Amino acid sequence: MTSSSAPARIRVKQLTVRSGRLEAEVEVYPPGAHSTPALARVLRGMNPRLAGHACVNDVGDCFGDVMDHTPLPHVLEHLAVDAQAQEYRAHASTDEGKVFVGTSEWIDDERTVARVCMSFVDDLAALRALREATAVLKSALEQCVDEARCIHALCDD
Ligand SMILES: [Zn+2]
Repeated sequence: MTSSSAPARIRVKQLTVRSGRLEAEVEVYPPGAHSTPALARVLRGMNPRLAGHACVNDVGDCFGDVMDHTPLPHVLEHLAVDAQAQEYRAHASTDEGKVFVGTSEWIDDERTVARVCMSFVDDLAALRALREATAVLKSALEQCVDEARCIHALCDD
């Protein structure tokens, strides 16, 4: 095992509630950690809606176009926006659609910290959504590690 195969981690360092948007500083390890096809597969299984999200990226119009290889904070952003939209829809008194938007960007040259921003209607709902998204991403990362261990064990046989 080399250090490059160390499992990726993500942690919310700091949260700031601004008028109409939630800002999270997210710490990532190893620096610049990206999703992998294996992580994307696990996430698709957990949340089939995710790949269809509208997304501004260099490849296409959907998050699914970049999901196999995109910075982990970008994955967290989409998970959080999705969790918030789901909760909003579940409690909305009208059918009126509400679109939540998010952004994510590295804020240091080493790419160890990113700022993830997300619009909201209800700050507490946004905080819940971010917490849920973080838990989902951590769980997906763990599943990938388990899967890699299994593959490794098979190869060793
Ligand atoms: Zn996106």
